[in-house]
Amino acid sequence: MPNHTIADILRGLEAKTFSSEEITQQYLDAIAKHDGNFNSFITVTPDQALAQARAADTARQNGSAGALCGVPIAHKDIFCTEGVRTSCASKMLDNFIAPYNATVVERLANAGVVTLGKTNLDEFAMGSSNETSFYGAVRNPWNTDCVPGGSSGGSAAAIAAGLAPAATGTDTGGSIRQPAALCGLTGLKPTYGRVSRYGMIAFASSLDQGGPMAKTAEDNALLLQAMAGFDHRDSTSMDLPVPDYRAGLNKDLSGLKIGVPKEYFSDGLDPEIASAIEASLDEYRKMGAEIKSISLPHTHLAVPCYYIIAPAEASANLSRFDGVRYGYRCENPKDLDDLYTRTRAEGFGEEVKRRILIGTYALSSGFYDAYYRKAQQIRRLIKQDFDEAFKSVDIIAGPTTPNPAFALGEKVSDPVTMYLEDIYTIAVNLAGLPAISLPAGFTKGKPIGLQLIGRDFDETTLLAAAHQYQQRSDWHQQAAPGSV
Ligand code: GLN
Repeated sequence: MPNHTIADILRGLEAKTFSSEEITQQYLDAIAKHDGNFNSFITVTPDQALAQARAADTARQNGSAGALCGVPIAHKDIFCTEGVRTSCASKMLDNFIAPYNATVVERLANAGVVTLGKTNLDEFAMGSSNETSFYGAVRNPWNTDCVPGGSSGGSAAAIAAGLAPAATGTDTGGSIRQPAALCGLTGLKPTYGRVSRYGMIAFASSLDQGGPMAKTAEDNALLLQAMAGFDHRDSTSMDLPVPDYRAGLNKDLSGLKIGVPKEYFSDGLDPEIASAIEASLDEYRKMGAEIKSISLPHTHLAVPCYYIIAPAEASANLSRFDGVRYGYRCENPKDLDDLYTRTRAEGFGEEVKRRILIGTYALSSGFYDAYYRKAQQIRRLIKQDFDEAFKSVDIIAGPTTPNPAFALGEKVSDPVTMYLEDIYTIAVNLAGLPAISLPAGFTKGKPIGLQLIGRDFDETTLLAAAHQYQQRSDWHQQAAPGSV
């Protein structure tokens, strides 16, 4: 199976080198044959995919093709898909067939994509290693003893393994960017409000944002184009025009001011990652950018602040899983209390329970001011750090993660060490900003991610900066040893 990008597939479909049905069948065959090594899919939908592919081929013949007509992709199993199980990698939703499509799913379908299936993730998107899934851990195609990152680890592994050219992800604290970094991919977390959250199972509503994951910045632009825009069904979606992202890829970057936060090069950073990031900054200098040292002084507070706010919101969002309305229900409940208690005790995994307990505690009267209100105040300070920085720079650059992919099992029993993996990504969600991770080298055969953070709603500059770097580097073109 060739290492296709979406742009390659569109060219092949236009030139009639292959039909959507043929390319879709190739991916379905690859999934059937190889996904046992990675566990990147929870549900594969071959019949539906082939029907969609045939419809796409007809649309292309009739001249009514949408922008992504006939391109097969996968959806993170957190997006509701009508008629197809939407599990969020939880026993709680193992039997849940969504009755409607998420806006992201619907918009991509309108653009003509074919859905191969639903990818694995950490349960309810809580995790950084894809080890908390009810359906088992996912393996990294660069090194199958290592995690692919999380929570969108299934999407990342599927792409890196060559089982899908691209996929959707969601990012609450780094879940698009961190797995993209660990699997050698390009992944974009859009500005909060850019992409509708309607039909995306809620984890922490003020932080969650859906976005694209693919091999290249160009493919991210193509996917974001279809996903982005106002949706009256999500009251936090912004009614702003959506720029032409692909046209923006060649935006002139000379004179671009790139800020490098000194706090992102602290002790915990792997020295080989630090030097790969320095080398990529040199490339940007050659491209005419100006590199400036900046400070984001509240960086060290981002992880503790997030681990109050995200669990607090999660504890409220997850109260809907009560065994009454949908999802898992315990056997033979004695009474209503027993129904609630046993359903939730049996249906949720350990990490989800830990978050519900922390969140409920932080919101309880007597602790609300000490924890939740304080965290909200710190969130404002973090946002102000970025506002201050963006007065003198156009984008901010640094590593996506402090370490490359770590071994399966290495951090799962130590939640705090696991939480620190998101030290460079979490502040971006707290501030609602867009950010992209792109491949910037390797250490001991494992990919390194460069993170670029932008101003609110300025995804265009991030995509352009990533794309132009990818015209001068080939990290993103390397194929994982485990890929098919
Ligand atoms: N790893 C972070 C967490 O566990 C972020 C997850 C995410 O972005 N969904 O909460």
